[in-house]
Amino acid sequence: MRNFLKLLIVFILFVPALFSQDKPPADVRFSADMLDKSIDPCNDFYAYACSKWTAQNPIPADRSSWGRFNELQQRGEYIVRDILEKAAADRPGRSASEQKIGDYYASCMDEAAVEKAGIRPLEADFHSITAIKSKDELSQEIVRLHREGTEVLFGFDSGSDFKNASQMIAQLDQGGLGLPDRDYYFKDDPKSVELRKKYVAHVAKMFALLGDDEAKAAAEAKVVMEIETGLAKGALDQTSRRDPQKIYHKLSNQELAALNSSFNWNAYFEGVGAPRFDSLNVVEPEFVKNMQEVIRAHSLDDWKTYLRWHTVHSNAETLPAAFVNEDFDFFGRTMTGAKELRPRWKRCVSYTNADLGELVGQLYVQQTFGAEGKERTLAMVGALEKALGEDIKNSPWMGADTKTQALAKLQAITNRIGYPDKWRDYSALQIVRGDALGNSQRANQNDFQRKLDKIGKPLDKRDWPYPPMTVNASYNPLENNITFPAGILQPPFYDNRADDAMNFGGIGAGIGHELTHGFDDEGSQFDAEGNLRDWWTANDKKQFEERTGCIRDQYANFVAVDDLKLNGKLTLGENTADNGGMRIAYMAMLNTFAGKEPAPVDGLSAEQRFFLGFANVWCQNRTAAESRMRVTIDSHSPGKYRVNGTVSNMPEFREAYHCSATAPMVNQNACRVW
Ligand SMILES: [Zn+2]
Repeated sequence: MRNFLKLLIVFILFVPALFSQDKPPADVRFSADMLDKSIDPCNDFYAYACSKWTAQNPIPADRSSWGRFNELQQRGEYIVRDILEKAAADRPGRSASEQKIGDYYASCMDEAAVEKAGIRPLEADFHSITAIKSKDELSQEIVRLHREGTEVLFGFDSGSDFKNASQMIAQLDQGGLGLPDRDYYFKDDPKSVELRKKYVAHVAKMFALLGDDEAKAAAEAKVVMEIETGLAKGALDQTSRRDPQKIYHKLSNQELAALNSSFNWNAYFEGVGAPRFDSLNVVEPEFVKNMQEVIRAHSLDDWKTYLRWHTVHSNAETLPAAFVNEDFDFFGRTMTGAKELRPRWKRCVSYTNADLGELVGQLYVQQTFGAEGKERTLAMVGALEKALGEDIKNSPWMGADTKTQALAKLQAITNRIGYPDKWRDYSALQIVRGDALGNSQRANQNDFQRKLDKIGKPLDKRDWPYPPMTVNASYNPLENNITFPAGILQPPFYDNRADDAMNFGGIGAGIGHELTHGFDDEGSQFDAEGNLRDWWTANDKKQFEERTGCIRDQYANFVAVDDLKLNGKLTLGENTADNGGMRIAYMAMLNTFAGKEPAPVDGLSAEQRFFLGFANVWCQNRTAAESRMRVTIDSHSPGKYRVNGTVSNMPEFREAYHCSATAPMVNQNACRVW
C-alpha cells in the first residue's frame, strides 16, 4: 500500500498529499465571489484568484496540505465509503466483487479485532527472519517479503523496454530505504540532521513496541540507519531519475551477476515466480554494485534487524493503534506537519482503493460517470490535440524534419478516458473477513504476481496505472498515451454546467499539460512508439534546450519556504507542461469560439475566466514541513508558481487583464517552448 502511485516514469498531474479530514463535501464550483478584488490580478494573479479560498480553507488538523484537488478527493471518499458500507453488509446474494471489497473494508474498520490480534499476524514473518542461517539465504527471505509487499533492499517489477517499448521486460530498481529519498540520508543542514535523529528515534520506538528493551531497540535502530545510509549511497537522486538515459541499463543476467555476486539472483527470480528471462533493465547499476558492499559490510544479525524493521514499517498501518500512532507521529507529524491522524474510515477507504481499486472503481463509475462525460471529454481532447498540432506546425524555431517527427508523435498519442475498457481480474485473490493484515499482504502478493506475469509479454495498453476514482491524470512516454480517470472529470476541473472558458482553463489545461509532457525535456526523448530514440536535429535540440533553460532558470528563483528555492531542473518537465498546456488550451478555446466572442459572465470576459479556471484548481495551503519535503521529492511546483509562473509568460494573460508592460505578472524574459 505504501507504494501506491510510485511509478518509474509516468508523469502525473500532481503528487497527492499523504494524509484527509472528516468534513462534509464542499461545493467545489467556481464563483466570482471567491475573487479578492482588493488585489490587482496583474500584481499577483494567484492571490487575486486564491487568497480568499486559502483564508477560508485552513489546513485541516489531519492533513499537511489542503487544496481544491483535496476537496474533490474528499467527495470521492464519501461516495466510495457509501459503496463499501453497502458491500460490507454481510447478506446472502452478494456478488464476488461485493464480498471482496466489503469484507476488506469491514476487516480494516474492525479496530477491536485488530487490537485483539496484536502483532500475532506478523509472527510467522518474524520467525522466518530469525530462522535465516546464512547470507546466502537472504535472497529467499527477500522473495517472501517482496511478495507480501515489503520492499527491502531493492525493487523488482516489470516495465516497458525503453528501446523496444511494446515489449515488457523485468526491471530491477533501487529501494529498501525508510526515508522518502536518498538525499535525506546525506543533507547536512540543521533541519535534515534533526530529521535523521528523529527517524532513528522512531525506528527504535517501533522495535520497542515489538517488545525489545530500550537499549536493544536503540542499538537496532542504529543498525537500520547504517544499512539504509549504505544503500542510499548507491541510489540516484530525484533529478537524475528524470533523465531516461540514466535509468535504462539493459543487462544480461550474467552481467547482473557480475555487478553483484554476493546476492543469489537466480534463486530470487525463481522464488518470486517471475517468468524466465535473459536480460533486464537494471535501473541503476551503481546501486546494485554498491549493495554488494553493504551486504558484505554487515553481519547476518544486522540484516535480520533490517528485515524486521521493514516488516513492521511496511505493515504498520494495519497493526494496533500503538503502531499506527507511532508511524503517524514520524511520517505524518514530523515529516509533513500534519497534526492529527485522519479518521479510520478514511484510511480504510484509501487502503481499499489501493488494494482493490478496479473492483471499487467499477461501482464508482456506475454511480458517477455517464457516457456523456466520456464523449465531451473526448471532444475536448480532440480540440487540444488539434491546437497542439497547429502550434507545432507554426513553431518559429523548429525545422521541417523535426516538425514531421513531432507531428507523427502527436498523431500516435492514444487516450484513456474515464475508466478501463477491460477491468482487472481479482478472482485469484482471497479476502477473508476479520484478517485485515492478511488481506493487505495477499493483495500485495496478487499485485506483485500480476506485474511479474507481464515480463516477456507485449505491452497491454488497456491496463490502467491507477483506479478510475483517482483525482489525477497522467502521460506515459513509453506508451505515448494520456489517462484521465473519471475522478478528475468533475468540478472544478470539468463542469457540465460551466461555460467553455472555465472548462478549457480547468480540464482543458490539464489535457494540454499531459499532451505537452510528450514534448518536455524528458518526454521529448521518446518517439511516437514510446521508444527512447533521438528524433531531433542537432540544431532544433539546441533551440529546444535554450527554451527549456529559460523555464528552468525562471522557476529556480521561486522561493518554496523560508529561503529554500525550487529545484528548476527537477520541476522542469512539469513547468514546461504547464507552459505549453495553457497555451494550447487557450488556442483550443479560441478555435471553439470560432470568432464569436461569448458574452461576459459576472463581468468577466471569456479570456479572463479561462485564466481563472486554471488558477482556481491550484488554490492550496501547505505546512512548512510539507513544502520543504516537496522541494526534494516532488517534480511539481507549488500551486502559487504553477499559476503565476505560467501566466506571467503569456502575452494572452497580459492582454486579458490589461496589465502594464512592467507589471509583476508580466515576465520581461517570457519563456516559451511550445
Ligand atoms: Zn505533469
